[in-house]
Amino acid sequence: MTLQPLRKDFLPFAKPDIDETDIEEVIEALKSGWLSKGPKVFQFEKELSEFLGVKHTVSCNSGTAALHLALLAAGIGPKDEVIVPSFTFCASVNVILHVGAKPVFVDIDEDTLCLDVKEVAKKITKNTKAIMAVHFAGRAADLTSLRQICDENNLLLIEDAAHAIGTEYQGKLIGNHGDIVCFSFYATKNMTTGEGGALVTNHDEIAEKARLYGWLGISKSAWNRYSQSGSWFYEVKLPGYKYNMTDIQAGLGIVQLRKLEKMRKKRASIANYYLDRLKELDDLVILPKKTESDIDKHSWHLFPIQITSKWKIGRDDFIEMMKKMNIGTSVHFIPVHLHPYYKEKYPINLPVTEKVYSRILSLPIYSAMTMADAEDVVNTIIYLSKHYQ
Ligand SMILES: *Cc1c(COP(=O)(O)O)cnc(C)c1O
Repeated sequence: MTLQPLRKDFLPFAKPDIDETDIEEVIEALKSGWLSKGPKVFQFEKELSEFLGVKHTVSCNSGTAALHLALLAAGIGPKDEVIVPSFTFCASVNVILHVGAKPVFVDIDEDTLCLDVKEVAKKITKNTKAIMAVHFAGRAADLTSLRQICDENNLLLIEDAAHAIGTEYQGKLIGNHGDIVCFSFYATKNMTTGEGGALVTNHDEIAEKARLYGWLGISKSAWNRYSQSGSWFYEVKLPGYKYNMTDIQAGLGIVQLRKLEKMRKKRASIANYYLDRLKELDDLVILPKKTESDIDKHSWHLFPIQITSKWKIGRDDFIEMMKKMNIGTSVHFIPVHLHPYYKEKYPINLPVTEKVYSRILSLPIYSAMTMADAEDVVNTIIYLSKHYQ
Protein backbone atom coordinates (compact mmCIF):
# COMPACT_ATOMS: atom_id res chain seq x y z
CA MET A 1 0.00 0.00 0.00
CA THR A 2 1.09 3.59 -0.47
CA LEU A 3 1.51 5.70 2.61
CA GLN A 4 0.51 9.35 2.55
CA PRO A 5 2.90 11.37 4.76
CA LEU A 6 1.03 13.80 7.01
CA ARG A 7 3.87 16.32 6.73
CA LYS A 8 5.91 17.49 3.76
CA ASP A 9 9.33 17.85 5.34
CA PHE A 10 11.28 15.26 7.30
CA LEU A 11 11.24 15.67 11.10
CA PRO A 12 14.71 14.70 12.32
CA PHE A 13 14.99 12.46 15.35
CA ALA A 14 17.14 15.00 17.21
CA LYS A 15 18.46 18.52 16.79
CA PRO A 16 20.47 20.78 19.11
CA ASP A 17 18.84 23.97 20.41
CA ILE A 18 21.23 26.69 19.23
CA ASP A 19 20.24 30.37 19.16
CA GLU A 20 22.04 33.72 18.81
CA THR A 21 23.26 33.72 22.42
CA ASP A 22 25.05 30.39 21.88
CA ILE A 23 26.61 31.70 18.68
CA GLU A 24 27.74 34.98 20.30
CA GLU A 25 29.37 33.17 23.19
CA VAL A 26 31.37 30.92 20.85
CA ILE A 27 32.43 33.90 18.74
CA GLU A 28 33.58 35.63 21.92
CA ALA A 29 35.69 32.60 22.80
CA LEU A 30 37.22 32.61 19.32
CA LYS A 31 38.00 36.33 19.55
CA SER A 32 39.50 36.03 23.03
CA GLY A 33 42.59 34.29 21.65
CA TRP A 34 42.18 31.47 24.14
CA LEU A 35 40.91 28.41 22.29
CA SER A 36 41.94 25.55 24.52
CA LYS A 37 41.40 25.13 28.27
CA GLY A 38 41.21 28.66 29.67
CA PRO A 39 38.98 31.07 31.58
CA LYS A 40 35.70 29.87 30.05
CA VAL A 41 36.42 26.28 31.08
CA PHE A 42 36.97 27.42 34.67
CA GLN A 43 33.81 29.52 34.57
CA PHE A 44 31.78 26.64 33.16
CA GLU A 45 33.07 24.27 35.83
CA LYS A 46 32.23 26.78 38.56
CA GLU A 47 28.72 27.41 37.19
CA LEU A 48 27.99 23.70 36.76
CA SER A 49 29.13 22.96 40.32
CA GLU A 50 26.90 25.76 41.62
CA PHE A 51 23.92 24.67 39.53
CA LEU A 52 24.16 21.06 40.70
CA GLY A 53 25.18 21.91 44.25
CA VAL A 54 28.31 19.73 44.12
CA LYS A 55 31.84 20.42 45.25
CA HIS A 56 33.87 19.55 42.15
CA THR A 57 33.35 19.56 38.40
CA VAL A 58 36.01 18.22 36.05
CA SER A 59 35.03 19.11 32.50
CA CYS A 60 36.07 16.78 29.67
CA ASN A 61 36.03 16.50 25.90
CA SER A 62 33.32 13.82 26.02
CA GLY A 63 31.02 11.94 28.35
CA THR A 64 33.00 8.81 27.54
CA ALA A 65 36.18 10.52 28.77
CA ALA A 66 34.39 11.49 31.99
CA LEU A 67 33.37 7.84 32.55
CA HIS A 68 36.93 6.67 31.88
CA LEU A 69 38.27 9.24 34.35
CA ALA A 70 35.70 8.11 36.93
CA LEU A 71 37.07 4.57 36.87
CA LEU A 72 40.71 5.74 36.83
CA ALA A 73 40.14 8.13 39.74
CA ALA A 74 38.32 5.37 41.64
CA GLY A 75 41.42 3.21 41.25
CA ILE A 76 39.51 0.46 39.42
CA GLY A 77 41.75 -1.88 37.43
CA PRO A 78 42.57 -5.48 36.50
CA LYS A 79 40.71 -8.21 38.46
CA ASP A 80 38.06 -5.71 39.55
CA GLU A 81 34.45 -6.12 38.50
CA VAL A 82 32.01 -3.33 37.69
CA ILE A 83 28.27 -3.97 37.58
CA VAL A 84 26.64 -2.26 34.61
CA PRO A 85 23.43 -2.58 32.57
CA SER A 86 23.78 -3.89 29.03
CA PHE A 87 20.88 -1.62 28.07
CA THR A 88 23.11 1.44 27.57
CA PHE A 89 25.44 3.09 25.09
CA CYS A 90 28.63 1.08 24.52
CA ALA A 91 30.70 3.88 26.11
CA SER A 92 29.52 2.89 29.61
CA VAL A 93 31.06 -0.55 29.14
CA ASN A 94 34.04 0.16 26.88
CA VAL A 95 35.62 2.30 29.62
CA ILE A 96 35.46 -0.63 32.06
CA LEU A 97 37.67 -2.54 29.63
CA HIS A 98 39.92 0.50 29.15
CA VAL A 99 41.00 0.20 32.79
CA GLY A 100 41.39 -3.59 32.48
CA ALA A 101 38.40 -4.42 34.69
CA LYS A 102 35.54 -6.83 33.97
CA PRO A 103 32.04 -5.64 33.09
CA VAL A 104 29.33 -7.67 34.82
CA PHE A 105 26.08 -7.17 32.91
CA VAL A 106 22.85 -6.99 34.86
CA ASP A 107 19.30 -7.01 33.51
CA ILE A 108 16.92 -4.06 33.72
CA ASP A 109 13.60 -3.49 35.41
CA GLU A 110 10.80 -3.62 32.83
CA ASP A 111 9.02 -0.53 34.17
CA THR A 112 11.96 1.85 34.60
CA LEU A 113 14.35 0.34 32.02
CA CYS A 114 17.11 1.02 34.57
CA LEU A 115 19.14 -1.55 36.57
CA ASP A 116 17.03 -4.21 38.28
CA VAL A 117 18.29 -3.86 41.85
CA LYS A 118 17.29 -7.41 42.81
CA GLU A 119 19.51 -8.71 40.00
CA VAL A 120 22.33 -6.36 41.03
CA ALA A 121 22.46 -7.87 44.50
CA LYS A 122 22.87 -11.37 43.01
CA LYS A 123 25.90 -10.41 40.91
CA ILE A 124 28.11 -9.03 43.67
CA THR A 125 31.33 -10.99 44.27
CA LYS A 126 34.45 -10.31 46.33
CA ASN A 127 35.93 -8.62 43.22
CA THR A 128 33.08 -6.16 42.71
CA LYS A 129 34.34 -2.60 43.15
CA ALA A 130 31.60 -0.41 41.75
CA ILE A 131 28.10 -0.22 40.36
CA MET A 132 27.62 1.93 37.29
CA ALA A 133 23.99 3.04 37.14
CA VAL A 134 22.54 4.49 33.93
CA HIS A 135 19.58 6.85 34.14
CA PHE A 136 17.91 5.56 31.01
CA ALA A 137 16.06 8.23 29.00
CA GLY A 138 16.54 10.67 31.90
CA ARG A 139 14.55 8.75 34.48
CA ALA A 140 16.58 8.29 37.65
CA ALA A 141 17.59 4.73 38.51
CA ASP A 142 16.64 3.39 41.95
CA LEU A 143 19.44 5.26 43.70
CA THR A 144 18.14 4.58 47.21
CA SER A 145 18.45 0.81 46.78
CA LEU A 146 21.72 1.09 44.85
CA ARG A 147 23.23 3.33 47.54
CA GLN A 148 22.23 0.81 50.17
CA ILE A 149 23.77 -2.09 48.23
CA CYS A 150 26.97 -0.06 47.76
CA ASP A 151 27.18 0.84 51.46
CA GLU A 152 26.59 -2.75 52.58
CA ASN A 153 29.26 -4.10 50.22
CA ASN A 154 31.75 -1.24 50.31
CA LEU A 155 31.30 -0.38 46.62
CA LEU A 156 31.46 2.92 44.78
CA LEU A 157 28.29 4.20 43.14
CA ILE A 158 29.18 5.65 39.75
CA GLU A 159 26.41 7.18 37.64
CA ASP A 160 26.36 7.41 33.86
CA ALA A 161 24.13 10.48 33.85
CA ALA A 162 24.54 11.17 30.12
CA HIS A 163 20.72 11.45 29.88
CA ALA A 164 20.09 13.00 33.26
CA ILE A 165 21.37 16.55 33.49
CA GLY A 166 18.47 18.39 35.15
CA THR A 167 16.83 15.19 36.44
CA GLU A 168 15.92 15.24 40.13
CA TYR A 169 15.79 12.24 42.42
CA GLN A 170 14.10 12.70 45.80
CA GLY A 171 14.31 16.46 45.59
CA LYS A 172 17.95 16.68 44.57
CA LEU A 173 19.48 17.08 41.15
CA ILE A 174 21.38 14.11 39.77
CA GLY A 175 24.99 14.75 40.75
CA ASN A 176 24.25 14.65 44.48
CA HIS A 177 23.67 10.94 45.02
CA GLY A 178 26.48 8.75 43.71
CA ASP A 179 30.18 8.97 44.51
CA ILE A 180 31.05 9.99 40.94
CA VAL A 181 28.54 11.24 38.38
CA CYS A 182 29.29 11.69 34.67
CA PHE A 183 27.39 13.85 32.20
CA SER A 184 27.61 14.08 28.41
CA PHE A 185 27.22 17.24 26.35
CA TYR A 186 27.15 15.48 22.99
CA ALA A 187 25.17 17.26 20.26
CA THR A 188 21.90 15.40 20.88
CA LYS A 189 21.96 15.52 24.69
CA ASN A 190 19.74 17.83 26.76
CA MET A 191 22.46 20.48 26.73
CA THR A 192 25.43 20.45 24.39
CA THR A 193 28.96 21.70 23.93
CA GLY A 194 29.22 19.99 20.53
CA GLU A 195 31.26 17.21 22.09
CA GLY A 196 31.92 17.34 25.81
CA GLY A 197 31.26 15.94 29.22
CA ALA A 198 31.83 16.44 32.91
CA LEU A 199 32.63 14.39 35.98
CA VAL A 200 31.23 15.70 39.25
CA THR A 201 31.97 14.53 42.77
CA ASN A 202 32.02 15.67 46.37
CA HIS A 203 35.17 13.64 47.11
CA ASP A 204 38.28 15.89 47.06
CA GLU A 205 40.71 13.08 46.34
CA ILE A 206 38.67 11.67 43.45
CA ALA A 207 38.35 15.12 41.88
CA GLU A 208 42.08 15.72 42.16
CA LYS A 209 42.91 12.36 40.58
CA ALA A 210 40.37 12.83 37.78
CA ARG A 211 41.93 16.20 36.95
CA LEU A 212 45.39 14.70 36.89
CA TYR A 213 44.37 11.74 34.70
CA GLY A 214 42.45 14.03 32.36
CA TRP A 215 45.34 16.43 31.79
CA LEU A 216 48.25 14.12 30.87
CA GLY A 217 49.12 13.63 34.53
CA ILE A 218 50.37 17.21 34.68
CA SER A 219 49.78 18.89 38.00
CA LYS A 220 49.29 22.37 36.50
CA SER A 221 47.10 23.62 33.66
CA ALA A 222 48.36 25.49 30.59
CA TRP A 223 46.28 28.42 31.73
CA ASN A 224 48.56 28.66 34.76
CA ARG A 225 51.60 28.11 32.61
CA TYR A 226 50.92 30.71 29.93
CA SER A 227 49.38 33.53 31.93
CA GLN A 228 51.67 36.28 33.24
CA SER A 229 51.60 34.84 36.73
CA GLY A 230 52.46 31.35 35.44
CA SER A 231 55.78 29.66 34.86
CA TRP A 232 57.16 27.26 32.23
CA PHE A 233 57.71 24.50 34.75
CA TYR A 234 55.43 21.45 35.07
CA GLU A 235 55.70 17.91 36.32
CA VAL A 236 54.10 14.68 35.11
CA LYS A 237 52.84 12.66 38.07
CA LEU A 238 51.34 9.78 36.08
CA PRO A 239 50.76 8.88 32.40
CA GLY A 240 47.42 10.63 31.97
CA TYR A 241 45.14 11.31 29.02
CA LYS A 242 44.36 14.51 27.16
CA TYR A 243 40.67 14.76 27.93
CA ASN A 244 40.24 18.48 28.60
CA MET A 245 37.38 20.65 27.36
CA THR A 246 38.16 23.76 25.28
CA ASP A 247 37.03 27.37 25.84
CA ILE A 248 35.00 27.18 22.63
CA GLN A 249 33.03 24.24 24.06
CA ALA A 250 32.80 25.80 27.51
CA GLY A 251 31.43 29.06 26.05
CA LEU A 252 28.59 27.06 24.52
CA GLY A 253 28.16 25.12 27.76
CA ILE A 254 27.76 28.27 29.86
CA VAL A 255 24.88 29.52 27.69
CA GLN A 256 23.28 26.08 27.35
CA LEU A 257 23.35 25.56 31.12
CA ARG A 258 21.46 28.83 31.63
CA LYS A 259 18.75 27.62 29.22
CA LEU A 260 18.68 24.06 30.55
CA GLU A 261 15.54 24.28 32.69
CA LYS A 262 13.66 26.10 29.92
CA MET A 263 14.69 23.39 27.45
CA ARG A 264 13.74 20.65 29.93
CA LYS A 265 10.27 22.15 30.38
CA LYS A 266 9.76 22.07 26.61
CA ARG A 267 10.77 18.40 26.53
CA ALA A 268 8.42 17.69 29.44
CA SER A 269 5.50 19.34 27.67
CA ILE A 270 6.15 17.22 24.57
CA ALA A 271 6.37 14.10 26.79
CA ASN A 272 3.10 14.93 28.50
CA TYR A 273 1.47 15.49 25.14
CA TYR A 274 2.71 12.09 23.87
CA LEU A 275 1.58 10.36 27.08
CA ASP A 276 -1.82 11.94 26.85
CA ARG A 277 -2.54 11.31 23.18
CA LEU A 278 -0.91 7.90 22.80
CA LYS A 279 -2.80 6.34 25.70
CA GLU A 280 -5.66 5.69 23.28
CA LEU A 281 -3.39 3.11 21.59
CA ASP A 282 -3.27 1.24 24.85
CA ASP A 283 -2.74 -2.32 23.60
CA LEU A 284 -0.55 -1.30 20.65
CA VAL A 285 2.03 0.96 22.25
CA ILE A 286 3.71 0.59 25.65
CA LEU A 287 4.46 4.05 27.01
CA PRO A 288 7.02 5.07 29.63
CA LYS A 289 5.53 3.84 32.92
CA LYS A 290 4.58 6.16 35.69
CA THR A 291 6.44 5.08 38.80
CA GLU A 292 7.02 6.52 42.22
CA SER A 293 10.05 8.37 40.90
CA ASP A 294 7.79 10.40 38.61
CA ILE A 295 7.15 12.72 41.50
CA ASP A 296 10.73 13.72 40.72
CA LYS A 297 11.86 15.84 37.80
CA HIS A 298 12.47 13.86 34.62
CA SER A 299 14.86 15.31 32.03
CA TRP A 300 12.97 13.52 29.21
CA HIS A 301 16.14 13.01 27.22
CA LEU A 302 14.35 10.24 25.33
CA PHE A 303 10.74 9.24 24.84
CA PRO A 304 10.87 5.47 24.33
CA ILE A 305 7.82 3.50 23.21
CA GLN A 306 7.46 -0.24 22.70
CA ILE A 307 5.49 -1.82 19.89
CA THR A 308 3.36 -4.74 21.08
CA SER A 309 2.64 -7.96 19.17
CA LYS A 310 -0.78 -6.57 18.15
CA TRP A 311 0.93 -4.94 15.17
CA LYS A 312 1.18 -6.80 11.88
CA ILE A 313 4.63 -5.30 11.49
CA GLY A 314 7.63 -5.50 13.83
CA ARG A 315 9.71 -2.68 15.29
CA ASP A 316 12.16 -2.52 12.36
CA ASP A 317 9.35 -2.20 9.82
CA PHE A 318 7.59 0.32 12.03
CA ILE A 319 10.72 2.50 11.95
CA GLU A 320 10.86 2.21 8.15
CA MET A 321 7.19 3.20 7.86
CA MET A 322 7.75 6.19 10.17
CA LYS A 323 10.66 7.24 7.96
CA LYS A 324 8.47 6.96 4.85
CA MET A 325 5.95 9.12 6.70
CA ASN A 326 8.71 11.75 7.24
CA ILE A 327 9.24 11.09 10.96
CA GLY A 328 12.74 10.27 12.20
CA THR A 329 13.09 7.84 15.10
CA SER A 330 15.96 5.90 16.65
CA VAL A 331 16.65 2.88 18.86
CA HIS A 332 18.13 3.18 22.34
CA PHE A 333 19.88 0.93 22.84
CA ILE A 334 21.27 -2.04 20.99
CA PRO A 335 22.19 -3.94 24.17
CA VAL A 336 25.95 -3.94 24.63
CA HIS A 337 26.09 -7.70 25.23
CA LEU A 338 24.65 -8.28 21.74
CA HIS A 339 27.45 -6.39 19.93
CA PRO A 340 29.94 -8.79 18.28
CA TYR A 341 32.89 -8.04 20.58
CA TYR A 342 30.89 -8.43 23.79
CA LYS A 343 28.88 -11.37 22.52
CA GLU A 344 32.09 -13.31 22.11
CA LYS A 345 33.93 -12.16 25.25
CA TYR A 346 31.08 -11.84 27.75
CA PRO A 347 28.24 -14.09 26.58
CA ILE A 348 25.13 -13.79 28.75
CA ASN A 349 21.33 -13.96 28.52
CA LEU A 350 19.43 -10.93 29.74
CA PRO A 351 15.76 -11.75 29.10
CA VAL A 352 14.20 -8.37 29.94
CA THR A 353 16.88 -6.37 28.09
CA GLU A 354 16.48 -8.58 25.01
CA LYS A 355 12.69 -8.47 25.03
CA VAL A 356 12.60 -4.70 25.44
CA TYR A 357 15.23 -4.24 22.72
CA SER A 358 13.14 -6.23 20.23
CA ARG A 359 10.25 -3.79 20.44
CA ILE A 360 11.57 -0.41 21.59
CA LEU A 361 12.15 2.80 19.66
CA SER A 362 12.61 6.46 20.57
CA LEU A 363 10.32 9.21 19.29
CA PRO A 364 11.61 12.72 18.52
CA ILE A 365 11.70 14.84 21.69
CA TYR A 366 13.78 18.02 21.86
CA SER A 367 13.37 21.66 22.70
CA ALA A 368 13.97 22.81 19.11
CA MET A 369 10.81 21.04 17.87
CA THR A 370 7.31 22.52 17.94
CA MET A 371 4.09 21.18 19.41
CA ALA A 372 2.84 20.92 15.81
CA ASP A 373 5.76 18.57 15.13
CA ALA A 374 4.75 16.48 18.15
CA GLU A 375 1.18 16.41 16.83
CA ASP A 376 2.48 15.07 13.50
CA VAL A 377 4.35 12.31 15.34
CA VAL A 378 1.22 11.18 17.19
CA ASN A 379 -1.07 11.45 14.19
CA THR A 380 1.41 9.45 12.12
CA ILE A 381 1.50 6.64 14.71
CA ILE A 382 -2.32 6.60 14.81
CA TYR A 383 -2.44 6.59 10.99
CA LEU A 384 -0.03 3.63 10.85
CA SER A 385 -1.94 1.79 13.56
CA LYS A 386 -5.04 1.86 11.38
CA HIS A 387 -3.13 0.24 8.52
CA TYR A 388 -1.07 -2.27 10.42
CA GLN A 389 -3.05 -3.78 13.26
C1 LIG B 1 25.87 9.77 25.06
C2 LIG B 1 26.13 8.71 26.04
C3 LIG B 1 27.40 8.45 26.55
C4 LIG B 1 28.66 9.01 25.98
O1 LIG B 1 28.75 10.35 25.90
P1 LIG B 1 29.69 11.05 24.81
O2 LIG B 1 29.70 12.48 25.26
O3 LIG B 1 29.06 10.85 23.48
O4 LIG B 1 31.04 10.43 24.91
C5 LIG B 1 27.53 7.54 27.59
N1 LIG B 1 26.47 6.87 28.08
C6 LIG B 1 25.24 7.07 27.60
C7 LIG B 1 24.10 6.32 28.21
C8 LIG B 1 25.02 7.97 26.56
O5 LIG B 1 23.79 8.13 26.05
